[in-house]
Amino acid sequence: MDIKIISDILNKMVSESEENRIPAEKALRPELAGMKIFSGCLVGCADAADKLFAEMKADEKAYGDMLRLPESWLEGAKSVIAFFLPYDDEIKVRDRPCSPYPSDEWLHARIEGQSFMLSACGKIVCELEKEGYKAIVPSMSSEFATSRDENRAAAGGPLYASNWSERHAAYVAGLGTFGLSKNLITEIGTCGRFGTIITDAPIEVTPRKYSSPYEYCTFCGACAVHCPSKAIGEKEKNTALCGEFINKTKSLFAPRYGCGKCQIGMPCEKGIPKK
Ligand code: SF4
Ligand code: SF4
Repeated sequence: MDIKIISDILNKMVSESEENRIPAEKALRPELAGMKIFSGCLVGCADAADKLFAEMKADEKAYGDMLRLPESWLEGAKSVIAFFLPYDDEIKVRDRPCSPYPSDEWLHARIEGQSFMLSACGKIVCELEKEGYKAIVPSMSSEFATSRDENRAAAGGPLYASNWSERHAAYVAGLGTFGLSKNLITEIGTCGRFGTIITDAPIEVTPRKYSSPYEYCTFCGACAVHCPSKAIGEKEKNTALCGEFINKTKSLFAPRYGCGKCQIGMPCEKGIPKK
């Protein structure tokens, strides 16, 4: 198994699978039935023992004390595969420009898109297992956990924390750097979803073309201006305000929810912004 094979599997699923389309029986409007969710993919791989994982875990202010290292998810872990699936333009261009709330297309992308992304992770796990390797998708594991902790926040840590982060693993795997919005800016933008798989298969590591966590962000502030909850400040993002807004979308659109105003139409939406 190598990055090229993983990339081929994902590209085939993205272009051929019916799961990558909004199902007619779930479409929020009839004309959305069959709309494609993702187009293309970007794949990277990190060494499971990369010291950046341990450095992140040691940074309790940023991650809390929950973050687990690859080895603690899978004994003998050697590689962390990370991939990014960008949303199709049809999903992105139809976001409601004059509303603080997500479009129907975006709501589908968040829920059906996530479901497709997890199927893609499952397919890669199957392929690795066929070759005799072990593999785990932390976000699909019964051990995956998130927490909201007021005491941790009062002590300077995050209000919301989880024991695995797809975006941080993708950063270590060379897929991109963070933006002011805390989205990960890849060479094909921020607008899409991330998946990660930890395996004991030895897979060639992809180089990081950057040396600091915010290297690709221009700090232009466009995401702060467009954020409906004013969660993005000049230097930091208030995850509590963002979380409250997402919860509000849950109450309005249940069982769906989401917000991508800090992604759609931003200079980093489709690629690394020009400085
Ligand atoms: S919109 Fe501007 S400030 Fe916000 S993440 Fe993108 S490049 Fe950075
Ligand atoms: S997801 Fe929405 S609420 Fe959260 S930071 Fe981005 S724009 Fe703001």
